[in-house]
Amino acid sequence: MAKYNKPLDRDYFKKKANPNVKKGPQLTKCCGEDKDRDGLNVKNADDWKLIELYIEEHLRDYPKHLNVTPISCKSCGIFLEYIVDIDIDKTLGYYEKSN
Ligand SMILES: [Zn+2]
Repeated sequence: MAKYNKPLDRDYFKKKANPNVKKGPQLTKCCGEDKDRDGLNVKNADDWKLIELYIEEHLRDYPKHLNVTPISCKSCGIFLEYIVDIDIDKTLGYYEKSN
């Protein structure tokens, strides 16, 4: 037994599951995202539903926002960000931050 407990991070559990696993985050070649990140993927039907739901709620919460474009990696489909199209007339010319 160790005298002090160490923090158990993702690397710890990856190593536990597979002792030969490489250290540190494994990044995708296409977009440089962490493969193990708990992110959404637009190629996953369940994830896409969540993205749609998020956008639907966003449009309900922000009447000045015209539409939301989910941006994802064209190669692997990892969701990267939302781009919000804002009705500038209704904001009197001021841009709002998207979140
Ligand atoms: Zn990618």
